[in-house]
Amino acid sequence: MIDYRSDTFTKPTQPMLEAMFRADVGDDVFGEDPTINKLESLAAEIFGMQAGLFCPSGTMTNQIAIKCHTQPGDEVVCDKLSHVYMYEGGGIAFNSGCQVKPIEGDRGKINAGQVNAAINPDDVHKPVTRLVSVENTANRGGGSCYNFTDLQKIKDVCLKNNLKYHLDGARIFNAIVEKKENPKDYGKIFDSISVCLSKGLGAPVGSLLLGSNDFIHKARRVRKVFGGGMRQAGYLAAAGIFALENNIDRLNTDHLHAKKIAEALLKKSFVGKIMPVETNIIIFEVTENYTAKSLAEIFKKHNILVIPISETQIRMVLHLGVTEKMVDETISVIETL
Ligand SMILES: *Cc1c(COP(=O)(O)O)cnc(C)c1O
Repeated sequence: MIDYRSDTFTKPTQPMLEAMFRADVGDDVFGEDPTINKLESLAAEIFGMQAGLFCPSGTMTNQIAIKCHTQPGDEVVCDKLSHVYMYEGGGIAFNSGCQVKPIEGDRGKINAGQVNAAINPDDVHKPVTRLVSVENTANRGGGSCYNFTDLQKIKDVCLKNNLKYHLDGARIFNAIVEKKENPKDYGKIFDSISVCLSKGLGAPVGSLLLGSNDFIHKARRVRKVFGGGMRQAGYLAAAGIFALENNIDRLNTDHLHAKKIAEALLKKSFVGKIMPVETNIIIFEVTENYTAKSLAEIFKKHNILVIPISETQIRMVLHLGVTEKMVDETISVIETL
C-alpha cells in the first residue's frame, strides 16, 4: 500500500529504531531522563527559545499552551479551519474554559487586520481577548505557508493589545525548509511554539512545546494534570532527536513529490480545483462521476490510500514513507483513471 492518508503514518526507519534502542533513560517526571532532557534543549536551541517540554501529542502541546496563556472565559482568536479549533475535540472549552473567535482566513491563514478587528473592547459584556493562535503550515489550507512578515505584523498587534501569541507548528519545518527560513526568527516572535515529531519528521510518537523558562515551568505542571507525565520515555525522545538531526532537510523531497502528483492530477477532467501545493499536502476537488469517497475507493483498488476530507475533497500527504518509485507508480495510476 502507498499511504497518502497522513504524514502521521510514517514508521521509524531502521537507524531511528537503533537510536531508540540505544537510548539512555530515566524517570522524566523526576526530570531524570537524559534523552528527553537532551531533546528538549536541542529543540529549544534550534528555535532560540529558553526551554522545551516533550509531550505525547501535538494536541497536548497546543492544549497545554492554551491553558497556560488563558483564564476561563477568555477568548482565543484563530482561523476557523485551525486544528486547535476543529480537531482537538473541543479542548479549548474542555480544558481551558475558553471560547474561540473563529476567523475566515485565506487557506487557513489569518492576517493582522483581521486579528485587530477581532479584539474585544474593554466591556463587561465581552470576553477578554487573550490569545492568538496561528498554524504554519496550515493543514486545512493545503499545507499553505505564511509569509514571515505577515506573522510579524500579527505579533505587532499582539504586543499593542497585550495578547499572547501561539504557533501550532505541527509542520513548521515544512514551512521553514520550503521558505528557507531561520527557526530562530520564529522563536523571537512567539510566546509558545508546538512542533510535531510524529508527522513528516518520521518519529513514532511525540511533540514539543517551546517557550520561556517560566512558561515551560508552568506547562510542566499542566502536562502532569493532563496525564502527560511520562516515565522512561527517552526511548521515544531518542526518535525525536534522530528526526531533528536527520529528517528536516529531506522534507524538500516530499514537497517536490507533492507538486509532481498535483501536476498529474491537474491533467484529469474529473479533478476540479486543486489548492496551491506549497509543501507536502495536496487537497483537490473531485467532480464529474466521482465523489471523494468513490474516488478514494478506486485508488484503494490500486493499493493507494487517500483520505476524503469532505463530500468533494480528497487530501493526499507526502512523507518519508513514500519513495520516488511510489510517486511514479501513483502518477501512472492517475493517468489511467
Ligand atoms: C497533527 C496536527 C496536530 C497535532 O496532532 P496530534 O495527532 O495530537 O499529534 C496539531 N496541529 C496540526 C495542524 C496538525 O496537523
